[in-house]
Amino acid sequence: MMTDDMTDRLLRCADLLEQVYGSPGRVGSDPVDVLVRTILSQNTTSSNTQQAFSRLKEAYPDYRSLLDAPDSEIAEQIRQGGLANIKAERIRGALEAIKHDAGAIDLGFLGRMDKEDAREYLLALPGVGPKTAAVVLLFAFGMQTMPVDTHVNRISRRLGFVPPKASIEEAQRLLEKMTPPEMYCSLHVNLIRHGRTRCKAKNPLCEGCVLEEICEYHHKYLQK
Ligand code: SF4
Repeated sequence: MMTDDMTDRLLRCADLLEQVYGSPGRVGSDPVDVLVRTILSQNTTSSNTQQAFSRLKEAYPDYRSLLDAPDSEIAEQIRQGGLANIKAERIRGALEAIKHDAGAIDLGFLGRMDKEDAREYLLALPGVGPKTAAVVLLFAFGMQTMPVDTHVNRISRRLGFVPPKASIEEAQRLLEKMTPPEMYCSLHVNLIRHGRTRCKAKNPLCEGCVLEEICEYHHKYLQK
């Protein structure tokens, strides 16, 4: 259950993270680029994602040519990001569906839709789950939604913001309720940075962590 104390700790968390990682703003990007990049980012690092995305864009600058290429060739371009065959299939499937629905490989029409309708559309595309849909809505359209990936979910559980066994969907629903919408972007980006550098899945580096004072995991297991 959400309490005032929890909301205070969440706001404190966002503030402390900004002191370490800065205050990231939303940079407007082409929605299809955001979608493709987010599919590429599944189960890999940001530098691998960037390399795979750059190679893909170089090979298929307008995506129309991607639809004419064999899956094996697409997979070759994105090999760096891992799961290349699966991701190639998902990207092609998503782009084909968008072209079929919109008459072009363009997601601009989502900007004229209600947020939940736009989310529903994205979730029906191949390879798109709650996090990918939320990333597109937030970063490409500025719609108020809080993307939750494994880093955000793990740290939120350790901090005690969401129940220990919360699914990604549940964590997203709870965090969206607790967080002021203008902080979605900053909290999302900075929790990921914190998860990559310090609050890792195995052996989190708690000593000297900026979130020590508000972290339930730290108080329960490390300060006995
Ligand atoms: S104190 Fe440890 S568990 Fe808590 S946020 Fe920091 S690194 Fe993660």
